[in-house]
Amino acid sequence: MGEKNSHIDSIKETIKLKIKDIIKKELLEEIFEELKLEEKELVNEISSMISKKTPEKQTIKHSTTTTTKSQTIKAEEKSTNGDKIEREVYISVKAILKVASHALKYANSKIPKQNWVEVIGLLAGKVDNKNDILHIEDYYPMGHGTAVYAEIKDYRNYARAFRDIKKQKLFICGWAHSHPSYGCFMSNEDIGTQTRYQKLWNKSVALVIDPYLIDGTSAGFEIYRADLTTKTWYPLVYGIQGSLDIRMLPEILNFMNPIIEGKAVYLEYDEN
Ligand SMILES: [Zn+2]
Repeated sequence: MGEKNSHIDSIKETIKLKIKDIIKKELLEEIFEELKLEEKELVNEISSMISKKTPEKQTIKHSTTTTTKSQTIKAEEKSTNGDKIEREVYISVKAILKVASHALKYANSKIPKQNWVEVIGLLAGKVDNKNDILHIEDYYPMGHGTAVYAEIKDYRNYARAFRDIKKQKLFICGWAHSHPSYGCFMSNEDIGTQTRYQKLWNKSVALVIDPYLIDGTSAGFEIYRADLTTKTWYPLVYGIQGSLDIRMLPEILNFMNPIIEGKAVYLEYDEN
């Protein structure tokens, strides 16, 4: 009996050591296990949209109609009617183009609409300590899901992206996903995901893009944060960092279409 127990103990010890080893090697994966989304059944976001409580702040008109942002980042800008607009977040042109093209890759005119799916990715950014403004610098495409749901499936990929983002001296400041052709809002599942991000960093943001809202007057996306106590969401007033005239966005994306589809943008006559 005693021998059996000590044998079991030694097995336990070996297992313990192995576990410790794994933790050492893959600490990141362990940390970000927290973020792991539970296996969920396919959720109908549209029906949850109807049941969700609409926060008051949702009516705020944000900056999507403002076409060009100056390079200089200002915490406050004057709107056309003279009121001060406080912007707490800026997003780079690069991040916008990446998230829009990723969304279009899985929901474009070459794909039957019933096969369009959502995409998901991570937002990489930095905070300007002087004014506390978040700058979303880049977007890291992670994966795609179903017509109404996308999640990061493999958390080793999350850890890989984490390291890549850290190398760029940025950090994961939120996530982005697409709602191909059904508008920008936060579903209950989205609030659940956002809650996880905000628990890791309380100022994390959620970007939701519907590429079919990009029409020359809208950038097609909203940036949200959740109120964790009321489980509601509200849009943030964002600015575009750099000089992007959103009137040009449809044309730029149209030009990028072959790239999105993995083809050359154009061929020389000699190449034909
Ligand atoms: Zn969603």
